[in-house]
Amino acid sequence: MRKTGAKSALLLAEYAKKIFMIYRRDKIRSEPIIVESVEKNEKIEIIYKTNVTEIKGGKFVEELVLDNEYQGSNLLKVDGVFIEIGAEPNSKLALDLGVELDKTGYIDVDRKQKTNIEGVFAAGDITNATGELRQIITGCAQGVLAATSAYEYLKMKK
Ligand SMILES: Cc1cc2nc3c(=O)[nH]c(=O)nc-3n(C[C@H](O)[C@H](O)[C@H](O)COP(=O)(O)OP(=O)(O)OC[C@H]3O[C@@H](n4cnc5c(N)ncnc54)[C@H](O)[C@@H]3O)c2cc1C
Repeated sequence: MRKTGAKSALLLAEYAKKIFMIYRRDKIRSEPIIVESVEKNEKIEIIYKTNVTEIKGGKFVEELVLDNEYQGSNLLKVDGVFIEIGAEPNSKLALDLGVELDKTGYIDVDRKQKTNIEGVFAAGDITNATGELRQIITGCAQGVLAATSAYEYLKMKK
């Protein structure tokens, strides 16, 4: 699972006046340098051992309902909510087909987007080709490479 909450809090702190990071555990699990940056950032306040049970508002978000009290109340006034619970690759289909995954569950591909199975190519977020940078543009670039590799493979087979 990718640990994205702390990094996102740091990014949001560049734009927002105040960030509440609501976290169900008692300690952030991220790279030490990220944890240190979050803890040092005066705009970020971490509310540990707490979950959001409801988001309240009308046209816009107004407040959150917490399952623990924070400063004497279960309600926390906010202007917005960003949900970051990490991500797990949905790679079971590939695994069932015998495609090799890396240890984090992403499809292992080479520079031409080839998998371990001849004639099977993969592209996008599900692969380990771009490391942490999973974006539309990187996925599209991999798609072009995968399509070209598939074309070359079919041509060779003729
Ligand atoms: C909240 C959020 C915000 C983002 N913001 C940005 C942004 O601003 N800019 C940017 O560039 N990128 C952004 N991204 C990343 C971007 O969405 C992804 O990099 C991109 O969608 C990856 O494309 P993909 O085709 O690899 O995967 P996906 O878009 O995830 O497509 C995979 C598809 O496969 C389908 N699928 C899965 N399993 C099966 C199965 N077994 N059988 C059939 N179909 C299946 C899924 O339903 C899905 O439709 C954001 C991502 C998130 C989560």
